Amino acid sequence: MRRFIAGAVCPKCRAMDRLLIEVVDGGRRRRCVSCGHTDAEEENLVPEPSTRLDTRGRPETPTAPVRVLVPPGPRSNPDKGG
Ligand SMILES: [Zn+2]
Repeated sequence: MRRFIAGAVCPKCRAMDRLLIEVVDGGRRRRCVSCGHTDAEEENLVPEPSTRLDTRGRPETPTAPVRVLVPPGPRSNPDKGG
């Protein structure tokens, strides 16, 4: 079972999206298909933005259709050529 790590950068060759998770006997490990580098799986491989909100894992909230109401009034921008 193998799957690539989205956004992961190889610590050896700096190749992005070249690392995949390999399930081995006793655990998992990362392997770079670009240079062949292997090491233990770490959580801090993928750089996470600190100031951005994590939108993943949020419960799906039903989005109500937004209706923009235009207040009645005189048109300030007539379709007049001139
Ligand atoms: Zn590599």
